[in-house]
Amino acid sequence: MTSIQHRIGGVPVGGSIAAPVHDPATGRRRGEVVLGREAEVDLAVGAAARAFESWREVSLTRRTRVMFALRDLLERHEDELARLVTAEHGKVLDDARGEVVRGREVVEFACGIPQALKGEYSDQVSSGVDAFSFRQPLGVCAGIVPFNFPVMVPLWMHPIAIACGNAFVLKPSERVPSASNLIAELYAEAGLPDGVFNVLHGDGETADALIRHPDVAAVSFVGSTPVARRVHGTASAEGKRVQALGGAKNHAVVLPDADLDVAADQITAAAYGSAGQRCMAISVAVAVGDAADPLIDRLAGRARAIRVGPGTDPATGMGPLISAAARDRVAGHVLAAEEAGAKIVVDGRDLPGPGFFVGPCLLDGVTTGMPAYEEEIFGPVLIVLRAGTLGEAIALVNANPYGNGTAIFTSSGEAARRFQRAVHVGMIGVNVPVPVPMAFYSFGGWKASLFGDTHVHGPEGVRFYTRAKAVTSRWPEPSRPSEAPGMAFPTAR
Ligand code: NAD
Repeated sequence: MTSIQHRIGGVPVGGSIAAPVHDPATGRRRGEVVLGREAEVDLAVGAAARAFESWREVSLTRRTRVMFALRDLLERHEDELARLVTAEHGKVLDDARGEVVRGREVVEFACGIPQALKGEYSDQVSSGVDAFSFRQPLGVCAGIVPFNFPVMVPLWMHPIAIACGNAFVLKPSERVPSASNLIAELYAEAGLPDGVFNVLHGDGETADALIRHPDVAAVSFVGSTPVARRVHGTASAEGKRVQALGGAKNHAVVLPDADLDVAADQITAAAYGSAGQRCMAISVAVAVGDAADPLIDRLAGRARAIRVGPGTDPATGMGPLISAAARDRVAGHVLAAEEAGAKIVVDGRDLPGPGFFVGPCLLDGVTTGMPAYEEEIFGPVLIVLRAGTLGEAIALVNANPYGNGTAIFTSSGEAARRFQRAVHVGMIGVNVPVPVPMAFYSFGGWKASLFGDTHVHGPEGVRFYTRAKAVTSRWPEPSRPSEAPGMAFPTAR
């Protein structure tokens, strides 16, 4: 059985407390991971703080070269990383490869960091006076990440932070710890000095100690909304910079003028891919007008055709859930909706064990007051709601407390434009069900899906991991005596 250790200052570090790590496809324990407590948190932040002092002085060119080398190593180790993700998370291998590729794209953005960090310069803002601005790193940045993207979500954070000159302490999810240790090895092989990137394993207690550590300057968090809200509060109260991304309830609005076969294909993939364990999963389809019945027929046929099984089997379309508790929670939501009067069109409960499997579920007749609609289920459950008009559908999307992603399926440019302007949601797809922005844009939701001011990666990531200085300078000519300053507030001459 594997024992997964921290990686601090370039070396493995053990611990006395550990948690089990499971293979969700078999339900069996595949190893254990150490859980950091105050001593290990201190060790990791101390290693990062020491490494920061020299890393901040390393030239942009050399920092960029590390990113280019990491990018190539991530490509070479794509399969190994994907297999680790599938082994601990359960998602199918192709899906795991997809997250490695999307994460690598952030490293590709970080390869261009000299361009993103360029400051501004104004010549002669007053006689003999120039003004310019530039950005500097913050220090030790912490990343606390969820189980559902063991490679991609951490890669949203640390390449940008490190390319900007910071040191980083990553606290992976205790349920999927292994991929982060491989990433640490790849950073070392890419030439990153020890201590600039550290992996501190642990649970909520570890994360809390990390957030509160006085030498941590900034916190990036991705996870469920209740924890995101708390992390944002704790870090803000300690005067730290924080971005805390939370959960989601993403609606796909389908207008009667949409190609319903295409819409059903796309929504099926977005609802049941990764067993619905994506923050950008579509969990609610809003059928407008006449679209409802033909859409439900198509969705039901496609949901029943999905092959559920281990993620390592190439014939599998959908893998297991992360844990037995997640399986039971999802089944509980479907039962509660059924008891409250919803119609279970496709029922994925009662799949044989021993893994943590629930098959695709499709629910009709759910109302907005039911917990199945109000709560994030984070499983393979798609709910269909009906709306009379596009206006009603937009009102439904906007009344929901979450605002991560949404999509519209239509053949009308006018309707799509109206939708994209009116919804209170951070990421919008037009005939695209999972509108995850490319690495050179920034990722983030609105309302209860993000606490803080900046989205992750792309230009907003660069702003989050740096702070600005503005310099006003005068170099008087020695031959010309400079004018004595007046007592009035200085204005340009
Ligand atoms: P989670 O909130 O249970 O855990 C996330 C991380 O927080 C883990 O590393 C965990 O160890 C840590 N943690 C747990 N309790 C904590 C506490 N009290 N204080 C500080 N840290 C704590 O989430 P999860 O189950 O791992 O992931 C699924 C959730 O993440 C879903 O809600 C999903 O929507 C969300 N998610 C959001 C995004 C996004 O971009 N908005 C992306 C991926 C996942």
